[in-house]
Amino acid sequence: MSAEAGKPRAARFPLLLERVGRAGVSVKSRETLRPQRPLHEAARDAGRQRTPQGLGLDSQRVRQRMVQRLRAEGIRCEPVFSAMGVVPRHLFVDTALAIQAYEDTSLPIGHGQTISKPSVVARMVELLFDGAQARARGHLGRLLEVGTGCGYQTAVLARLAQRVVSIERLRPLFERAGGHLASWGRDIGEGLDHVRLLHGDGMLGHAPSAPFDSIIAAAGGGELPQPWLDQLAVGGRLVAPMHRPGQRGQVLVVVDRHASGIVRSEYEAVHFVPLKSGIV
Ligand code: SAH
Repeated sequence: MSAEAGKPRAARFPLLLERVGRAGVSVKSRETLRPQRPLHEAARDAGRQRTPQGLGLDSQRVRQRMVQRLRAEGIRCEPVFSAMGVVPRHLFVDTALAIQAYEDTSLPIGHGQTISKPSVVARMVELLFDGAQARARGHLGRLLEVGTGCGYQTAVLARLAQRVVSIERLRPLFERAGGHLASWGRDIGEGLDHVRLLHGDGMLGHAPSAPFDSIIAAAGGGELPQPWLDQLAVGGRLVAPMHRPGQRGQVLVVVDRHASGIVRSEYEAVHFVPLKSGIV
């Protein structure tokens, strides 16, 4: 994988002196100070680090339950289930949020951005797979992802596409995603050589890697950027959240490129962070 290695996480200690001071004031003088917590409290807190059903986040069964929920919600794409059933979503979010990683919720990943809900990731990848070419081939071919974020969806796509180019405009997120993907690759013993992360403006696509069989955007804009349409292969499919002209809110837009031209269709309403130009 060509991403830069991630930086170590910021240390949480030492605490700010003023916070230590405030905490000290609130301790009543008659209270017994306990340098160690009672064992039953430690056990209870350790239990909270596990899912409500009592399984650790590393367990395959936690992800299988997430997949079952996706099925119950109407997702019907087996390749999506097999990819999402193995990618450890909790390793892509902040440790403090890991306990929520398999709930169907978006979570903050810093810099005002969020990791998409599992159901939205599943739905968008399912729409990509519904394209005639992907269905016939059984994979997503050469794929462009715009908005790497924390790298979770990139990891899911890495299991379904022959080649992934993923672009992120915010350098700290680009670097962190590189770290997440590299450590996941080490865990599964794969080099992820077919995945390339880029720090750049995804609205421009990536002409040197074009044409793409699949294009997926994780941020919503007003109009489909022309480079995406230009870089979509004949037979390829694009899925992106977009505003409808003159209307509020975003919908999932699907574009199929045929030899005769492009066909655009609209699906359900969604709410994504904005697609922005330029890099930071
Ligand atoms: N699927 C991602 C979701 C990330 S949120 C995940 O699993 O984490 C969407 C991301 O799109 C944000 O990180 C945002 O910085 C990025 N983004 C917005 N506009 C962009 C652009 N023009 N080029 C590249 N990335 C962009």
